[in-house]
Amino acid sequence: MELTSLNDMRRYFESGITQPYAFRKQQLQSLQRAIESHEEDIYKALAADLKKSREEAYASENGFTLEELKVTLRNLKEWMAPEGVPTNLFNLPSRSYIRKEPLGVVLIIAPWNYPFQLLLTPLIGAIAAGNCAVVKPSEFAPATAEVVGRIIKQVFPPEYVLFVEGDGAAVIPDMMKEFRFDHVFYTGSTHVGRIIYQLAADKLVPVTLELGGKSPAVIENDANLAVSARRITLAKFMNAGQTCVAPDYVLVPENLLKPFAEEVTKCIHKFYGEDVANSSEYGRIINQKQFDRISSYLHSGTLLSGGKTQRDDLYIEPTLLSDVSLDAPVMSDEIFGPVLPLIPYSTREQAKSVIARNPNPLAFYVFTESKNTAREWLDAVPAGGACVNNANLHLSNMDLPFGGVGNSGIGSYHGKQSFAVFSHYKSVMRTPTWFDPAMKYPPFKGKLWLLKKLIG
Ligand code: NAD
Repeated sequence: MELTSLNDMRRYFESGITQPYAFRKQQLQSLQRAIESHEEDIYKALAADLKKSREEAYASENGFTLEELKVTLRNLKEWMAPEGVPTNLFNLPSRSYIRKEPLGVVLIIAPWNYPFQLLLTPLIGAIAAGNCAVVKPSEFAPATAEVVGRIIKQVFPPEYVLFVEGDGAAVIPDMMKEFRFDHVFYTGSTHVGRIIYQLAADKLVPVTLELGGKSPAVIENDANLAVSARRITLAKFMNAGQTCVAPDYVLVPENLLKPFAEEVTKCIHKFYGEDVANSSEYGRIINQKQFDRISSYLHSGTLLSGGKTQRDDLYIEPTLLSDVSLDAPVMSDEIFGPVLPLIPYSTREQAKSVIARNPNPLAFYVFTESKNTAREWLDAVPAGGACVNNANLHLSNMDLPFGGVGNSGIGSYHGKQSFAVFSHYKSVMRTPTWFDPAMKYPPFKGKLWLLKKLIG
């Protein structure tokens, strides 16, 4: 990466061109039009990289991104407006407000599993907040990276949004060592997240880290089993399990394990047919390295359903496992594939102790008809986000900030929070000069009674 390109971006940002509302709106609208006009290319690319169906691609990639654009365009003026706040007694008659300022030149790094939306959704926030951005797609979803690159180069000059490709392990440290970004927004594995955090720390660069983790689902005794099974099946097996918030494993009361497994198996065949390999609705694993890793989990327990694989087609059948050892890699690694261990439990304490082995998941799901039980579980499990009687879908509501906690990440985004994450909230106090009482200045001796009235 040429340092001159990054310095050009710095100059472009400092010219102030990216700041007016009209400019930001126009850029977002141009991006919207380009996404709409490349619809077919996007579907072809996502099919080539992950065999996503057009419908799944729309719901989770281009349509999802368009929704974020729509929400941002609808609210941007209001988000940008200075926000008045009350002023405390001591400072009256000053006025206080918060200015929303762009950060500068930011770096956005995306993974391969939702290669379109995980690159462009943060970019929408960066543009909305008035920044310049370098965007780096994953090298492991090359067809989608090619379309996204085409869109970005068509819509934006490189000094405003720069598209950078290549091996992340080489390109990203080079850029981050040479140039001080004003923010780094990274989505991907916890392992690489740690590397990014260290690179950023060196130059005191703030980060957002959207990482992974083992997101548990808990079935309670009073759960609606058929609905729970349907929702978990959808959430787990879309994109062949390669979803950061997919239920990683399910804790099921001992007596419900068999009926729950039967319900999930029924759903799998209802969604994807008897021969899942031939379903146009079911995706593929991104590459052989991931295929081999996920396949190695298939022998970790008793096969309740699924288990078939085809390496040359990167196909792994939706698979349910039971009798899995909690010490096996399938219960310590993030599975990130279509393998679902069902873990029986007899008491809530026992279930909580299983979850505590992999603390701070990105998401937590509880299935129960009781509000009190749901509340108890939400209190008990620190997680980035959660659903009650649902899975994955909290991230599709742009009014809910989306992010991890502890091991699953730092910071959050979507909707207004995307604007906030790429903004600096500058606190301003404006004090008129017509009122300047002597009691505010030294000597303070004898004024303690007055200070006590005004402060505290
Ligand atoms: P990946 O391997 O594509 O890596 C992500 C990005 O990091 C890529 O752009 C890559 O080029 C770059 N990279 C890789 N090695 C690097 C290095 N040494 N230094 C700097 N950059 C480097 O994707 P992945 O990490 O395999 O993605 C899967 C993980 O992402 C899973 O753990 C999943 O849970 C997580 N994820 C999280 C979210 C979320 O929103 N929290 C969303 C999707 C995926």
